[in-house]
Amino acid sequence: MKKILILPGDGIGKEVTPQGVHLLKAAAREAGLEITIENALIGGAALDETGDPLPAETIDQARAADAILFGAIGDPRHDQAPHEKRPGRGLLWLRKNLELYANLRPAKVFPGALDASPLKPERIEGVDLMIVRELTGGIYFGEPRGFREEAGVRLALNTMVYTEPEVERIVRFALELARGRRGRLTSVDKGNALEVGRFWREIATRVMAEFPEVETDHMYVDNAALQIIRDPRRFDTLVMGNLFGDILSDAAGNLSGSLGMLPSASIGKRHALYEPCHGSAPDIAGKDQANPIASILSVGMMFRYSFGQPGIDEKIHAVVDRVLADFRTADMMAPGKTLVGCAEMGARMLEAFEAAA
Ligand code: NAD
Repeated sequence: MKKILILPGDGIGKEVTPQGVHLLKAAAREAGLEITIENALIGGAALDETGDPLPAETIDQARAADAILFGAIGDPRHDQAPHEKRPGRGLLWLRKNLELYANLRPAKVFPGALDASPLKPERIEGVDLMIVRELTGGIYFGEPRGFREEAGVRLALNTMVYTEPEVERIVRFALELARGRRGRLTSVDKGNALEVGRFWREIATRVMAEFPEVETDHMYVDNAALQIIRDPRRFDTLVMGNLFGDILSDAAGNLSGSLGMLPSASIGKRHALYEPCHGSAPDIAGKDQANPIASILSVGMMFRYSFGQPGIDEKIHAVVDRVLADFRTADMMAPGKTLVGCAEMGARMLEAFEAAA
């Protein structure tokens, strides 16, 4: 019996997550997986009900869950709230405290949606890469940090720091992942300018030697940014620190054409959280316009990485491709396609999934 916690959150999180849950239930039936589903509050929705963006009850449920399906957080009504009451605090807390150190951000171009990419079809056809971003260390967490004044000059500082066990853990994770994909791993750093980069490369090289079956190389982050746009097909799996992963995964994600298509997984030793990469999209929230595919693909990742059922993930990908050939939400609309809303897109996906059983 697997315990799954659903955290829809705010804005379009409340619209796309139910579509993910429909697929989740259908996929569990097909896989013969017994599941229990619980719902909890997080973000602005939790602030409104309880005065806390991450209530203690939600923390307990998250700790007890085998996997979490998260929607999005962010509510303009709470933008001016003090730091500890900001809706986004809840998600950062979960990532850090559940030790979700490996963030997986796939970038895949679906044949049925080649027209949606900003790049030429001949350049992106067949793109299927995975960025593994270290999520609990690096410059976002390093000390010292803050604002200061020195000799009458104001300054701000952050510190990029990685320990050897942190680098070793994420590179090993990425190598294992690459082994189950097309067997290639590129480690990205800035070793020509940063000590952290040289250190990262030294440790990555050592761990890579334990995986002779994986073809490996190293790339400086500026070159990786260029290559991801110029020749994305050359990549299979990439591993990098928190800051570079934040930026490059957005660039790579954009290859598929819409933020509404990008799923992610954040995985730790005992916990895992699956979520679309997009935010709460206040501009379209409540209008049934959001694209639910990122949530649906996140469910696929859950079956692959938490439940050891890659076949379900593959089937969800095939279903997404088939439905996109005819139906589009507004963010991906193209001539000759039928425009549908969030709920109808979810229903089409469910129907196609069940029809292919
Ligand atoms: P956003 O991702 O919410 O939206 C950016 C743009 O993309 C908007 O025009 C939006 O309409 C569009 N978009 C996003 N997802 C879409 C979807 N599924 N279908 C169709 N269109 C979609 O980013 P933002 O506007 O910068 O941020 C809004 C709020 O979300 C902020 O409060 C921000 O802090 C928060 N946020 C949360 C997360 C998260 O929960 N993981 C991530 C990013 C931003």
